[in-house]
Parts: sequence; structure tokens; C-alpha cells
Amino acid sequence: MAMSLLLSSYPLQSLARSSWFPVRTGSKPVCLVLTKAQISGGDREEDVVIVGAGIGGLTTAVSLHRLGIRSVVLEQAESLRTGGTSLTLFKNGWRVLDAISVGPQLRTQFLEIEGMVVKKEDGRELRSFKFKDEDQSQEVRAVERRVLLETLASQLPPETIQFASKLESIQSNANGDTLLELGDGTRFLAKIVIGCDGIRSKVANWMGFSEPRYVGHCAYRGLGYYPNGQPFQKKVNYIYGRGLRAGYVPVSATKVYWFICFNSPSLGPKITDPAILKEQAKELVSAWPKDLQNLIDLTPDETISRTPLVDRWLWPGISPPASKGRVVLVGDAWHPMTPNLGQGACCALEDSVVLANKLANAINGGTESIEGAMESYGSERWSRAFPLTIRANLVGALLQWDNPLVCSIRNNVVIPKLLRLGPMLEHTNFECEPLYVSKS
Ligand SMILES: Cc1cc2nc3c(=O)[nH]c(=O)nc-3n(C[C@H](O)[C@H](O)[C@H](O)COP(=O)(O)OP(=O)(O)OC[C@H]3O[C@@H](n4cnc5c(N)ncnc54)[C@H](O)[C@@H]3O)c2cc1C
Repeated sequence: MAMSLLLSSYPLQSLARSSWFPVRTGSKPVCLVLTKAQISGGDREEDVVIVGAGIGGLTTAVSLHRLGIRSVVLEQAESLRTGGTSLTLFKNGWRVLDAISVGPQLRTQFLEIEGMVVKKEDGRELRSFKFKDEDQSQEVRAVERRVLLETLASQLPPETIQFASKLESIQSNANGDTLLELGDGTRFLAKIVIGCDGIRSKVANWMGFSEPRYVGHCAYRGLGYYPNGQPFQKKVNYIYGRGLRAGYVPVSATKVYWFICFNSPSLGPKITDPAILKEQAKELVSAWPKDLQNLIDLTPDETISRTPLVDRWLWPGISPPASKGRVVLVGDAWHPMTPNLGQGACCALEDSVVLANKLANAINGGTESIEGAMESYGSERWSRAFPLTIRANLVGALLQWDNPLVCSIRNNVVIPKLLRLGPMLEHTNFECEPLYVSKS
């Protein structure tokens, strides 16, 4: 019978390093050697290869590492993503960060946001809420992506992440191992592949997933910098216009994250020049409260971007399952969702610990095979991710409406009289299992 042990009470880091663990994969038992990589016939053999050093990939690697399982993370970029803005993490994200023991370190760097204010285009307040009034356990902080990635990466043994390693092609062989070929011709033979390669996932494409679908609106984002201290209260500010909305939230004592979402029938050209992006963003909200204009002016170039928003609905019976053999997807690679609920990264974090626990259980001689563990992960997480993807899409559609009558009802009836914060944030309830290992 499997016995669960809490991570904190078991010296797991040393557990699987140098011994052979017989692992049941489907009907055939194979051995997973949790040792250093080997080279065979020019191919580098690895037990666990993670594709993508984003939030999902690094959290999966850290979770597996905490459970004593070595992995290699292949990242196409030359380094961790250092530009970019921030992500709002709700209590479900924090539960995961605590489970992998990085929550306390991150909390000290980012302000806890107390509530939210919804305003009209002229700046008039329509409604305000305090998160703790609705749910004492809610925790909301906007976290800089760069800091989150660096913190996660710092938990991994040296050389776990291999930069400049772009996955180009995938092939499975007769015994269920997977051959991964990189852009520079390097080949990895992996027993387990975890695709965390984001919305344009090569791994998902190989598994038969369709391309994510553009939802009809784009977002400008940036991270305003106030060297002498930012002036805002610890609240998320939303401003709702017609086919246009904006938001901003303090991140730290000196930084404030902002976004502007606007309708656009097509993706439009890819623009990377920060001066043009700033100009376009300011133009959209030129008649809106000056706070927003100032914030855009105070935004360093490397943090400003424009992103078309996409998602993919995982229709049962139509969409492929989350795993194929011993290849499995995590985060945006599997379930890209629009950012309207602030849940994409939170959900990638959740996926990572759930998958790591199930894989560790299988690897360490639990009752399930690796394929079984991946299937069990897929069905557990599908029921979480699919409704969230739809909900995020519908919320976005509602907030992007440009019909004057509908917007008037939204601003004069729905938001002031009908909106309740509690049900709106129910999706942040997530019990994160501690990392555990099972011994047979
Ligand atoms: C406008 C906007 C606002 C958002 N706001 C929030 C928010 O407030 N809260 C929230 O929870 N979420 C938010 N999200 C969603 C969040 O950004 C994503 O859900 C999250 O980044 C997903 O993490 P991931 O690890 O799955 O993918 P990614 O972060 O995209 O990481 C994928 C990694 O894989 C690498 N990669 C890709 N292809 C290859 C390849 N072929 N070979 C090797 N490496 C490869 C990439 O370089 C990258 O490092 C927002 C998204 C957008 C667009």
C-alpha cells in the first residue's frame, strides 16, 4: 500500500539521485534512472525533459526537484525573460508558491492589494470592494514576472535550465520514449516530456491541438516606474469605457502595472517600437483620467508591449487529451485563456504541483503507471481549466462591449447594483496539496 509523506518531514532531495527506480509505464515496466544525463548513439538521454522555462516549466521543475526528481528544462531564449510586466496572483497562486516554499520570499517584495475600484471613463467611481470583506483568506498581489521567474530558477540545481535550446521537432519511438530535436541539431531522448512551451506550443501542435483562437481584442501593458515612490492606494483600479477598458495596480513602492484592452477586428501588424506603442496606448485613453496618461509616460521601454488575446476551448471529445503516451502539457501550452480573470499563470502554477505530485507518485512506485498518472492529471485539471477558459472569455466579451445601451446598463445597473465580488472570485478557491512522495 502506498504511504504518503509530507515533504517537510522527509529528506527527499537525496531520495532518487543515484538509484534505479522501476517505473510502470502502461503495461511494460521500464527503469527510470534518476541520475546524470547519458549520451547514447549521439542522443542525450534524459528521464524528464521540460520544454519552456516560463512560469509553468520552472514551477514544474522546482516541484519535481523538491520531490527528489531531476529534470532538464529546455528554453529557446538566451536567458530568462527579463522584460515584461507583472501578473496579478490570487490566493490560488499563492497556495502553490507556498507549497514549493517560495511564497515568503516573494511576499516581501510585492504589496498586498486590499481591494478594487471600478470607475467610468470620466474617473467617477461606480463601485469599490475590499477583498477581505468577501473572503478573509483572499490574497492578491501583482508580481513582476522577471522576479517570479528568477526566484523559481534560483531554486533549481545549476545547469537544470538549458538556454538557447529551441525545440524544433518531436518524434515518439516504439518503446514510448520521445526524441526531441533542437534548432542546433542537438537531440534528446526522454522518458517523460512535459510541454510548458506557452501559447504557440510545438508540443501541443505535435499532439494534435489546434492553434489558439484570437478573441477580438488586444492589450497594451506596461510597468510604470516612480523613482520617488508611487502615489496610489493598494487597490486595483478598473476603468470601463465602450469597447475599451484599462486598469492599473501598484506592484511595489515604486512600480505600478497598467493595461489597456481595446477591440480590434484583426491582430494588426506586430509593433515592437516602444515609442509607437506608448503613443498608441495614450491615444486610446486621451480623454480618460490623467493618472493613466502619466503612468504610460513613466513606463520604461523594455516593459511596454502589445499582445493580441487568444484562447483555446478544450471541448470534450473534440480536443485531444492533455497527454499522449509519456508526453504531457502544462499551462498555456494546454489551456491558453484570456487574462480577464487573471488566472492563466495561477492555473499554470496549479497544474505544475498537481502533475509533479502524480508523476512522483508513479515514479516512486505508486499504484499508477506514468501514463496513468498523466491521464489522471489531465482529467483532474481539465475540469478546472475548461470552465475557467470559458468564463474568462465571456467576462472579456462583456467588458469589451461597445454598444452604448449595453454599456449604459452595465455601468448604471449591473456594476453599481448587481455585482458581487464573492461569487466573482470563487474560482480562486483551490486547495493545494502539499508535495508528497509515496513509497510502496
Ligand atoms: C495581457 C496579459 C495579461 C495577463 N495577466 C495575468 C494575470 O494577471 N494573472 C495571471 O495569472 N495570468 C496572467 N496572464 C497569463 C500568463 O501570462 C500566462 O498564463 C502564463 O505566462 C503561462 O505560463 P506558461 O509557463 O504556461 O507559458 P509562458 O509564460 O508563455 O512560457 C513559455 C516558455 O516556453 C518557451 N518556449 C516556447 N516555445 C519553445 C520552444 N519551441 N523550445 C523551447 N522553449 C520554448 C518560451 O520562450 C517561454 O519561456 C496574462 C496574459 C496576458 C497576455
